[in-house]
Amino acid sequence: MWKSLELFLLCTFPVLLFWFIFYCSRRNAQQNRKPSYRIENLSAVCNGNDGSVKVTWSLNPPDILTNYFISYRKQFEPTSCSRLSLLQSYQLTREHIEPLNVYEIKVWPSNCEAAASSVTVYIDWYCQFPGCERSRRKREEKSYSAFCSPKHAAKFGASYCLYPECTVKSHDNFCSERHLEKAKREGVCGLVILDNASGQCEKLMKKFSKNWCSKKGNVPKISHVFEIVNPKLQQRLDNYISKLSWPYNGVEQYYHGTQIKCDMLDYYEPCSKSNCGVCGISKRGFDPQRINSTSWQRFGKGFYFAPNSSKSYDYPRATHNVTDKYHCMLVCDIAPGCKYTLYKDDPSIQGPPKGYHSIYGSSRWLWGLWKSPDMNYDELVVFDSEAIRPHYILFLENNS
Ligand SMILES: [Zn+2]
Ligand SMILES: [Zn+2]
Ligand SMILES: [Zn+2]
Repeated sequence: MWKSLELFLLCTFPVLLFWFIFYCSRRNAQQNRKPSYRIENLSAVCNGNDGSVKVTWSLNPPDILTNYFISYRKQFEPTSCSRLSLLQSYQLTREHIEPLNVYEIKVWPSNCEAAASSVTVYIDWYCQFPGCERSRRKREEKSYSAFCSPKHAAKFGASYCLYPECTVKSHDNFCSERHLEKAKREGVCGLVILDNASGQCEKLMKKFSKNWCSKKGNVPKISHVFEIVNPKLQQRLDNYISKLSWPYNGVEQYYHGTQIKCDMLDYYEPCSKSNCGVCGISKRGFDPQRINSTSWQRFGKGFYFAPNSSKSYDYPRATHNVTDKYHCMLVCDIAPGCKYTLYKDDPSIQGPPKGYHSIYGSSRWLWGLWKSPDMNYDELVVFDSEAIRPHYILFLENNS
């Protein structure tokens, strides 16, 4: 019995050993074998106008039945994404890749990664100003200026359509009814810097100094004026006005001091920071969610405006290092409707009484003979954000 077992092992062991060596050598050979084909002529060409990259290659020897994997990753970043292409080309757009970054692009036939070839490419994205081939500037995380410089932003805003990425010349803010309608729907907000010598600007400056109270010192110098172009908010105001009846359907201009947290004077475009009051209001209007519910409010929880430019100047100055030498103020078009006038503080108010649309806090009464004990300056409180349209941003040089 033992004898036959020994004999059996003796016979099978060399066979198994031989088979094992044969298997291992074959496996090795398979792994070492160079692929019979290679990716050649891999090129990645960036189109600076839209920040896309066209990747092309060829297979040697050719095989029309092969398809390909394309992987791309930002230089120095481990994450990588793959796509499948059935042709010998692939278009990477800004959905896939972030502009102003170096990417490593790798292509291989779907059945053999060892045949891969790779290339690095800098993804540029040119300034939107037609003909300018300088790169756009990066602002905050994943947010880009549309221009290379404030100079090009200003020039563009003055003579081109403000719909994003449209480069059609236009005397109005939008090139066509179609772009205006789209801008209304999508809430497009553009800033146009005004020429300080223009009639529009001079009118604003004149009004500003007229509404400045001399007790507050000298009238500060207005250094920059931006017009806020926001068709959605304009339409919202127009709709609101259409519901008011004469003589309460007029529009008045008021001042509103608020914080700016960005470098607007370095970009001439609104930012996307959530705490930047000026840009948030310019883009989305006044937000009822943001009414400060904890602090004391003279006439309850509404939006506060001043007919005096000096009153709004008391609000905090800009805090960004580019803009901290300025005060920022919004000039808003408001449809106050029928105003309910109050001469004394009343923080418990929830809104205007029935039949009225806003509250007007008046500091004086009887042709100025009687002076309010609570208020030094007049204030308008609006409870419906649809009645307000931010129209201009004023940058004022600090007079202190
Ligand atoms: Zn440019
Ligand atoms: Zn357009
Ligand atoms: Zn901002």
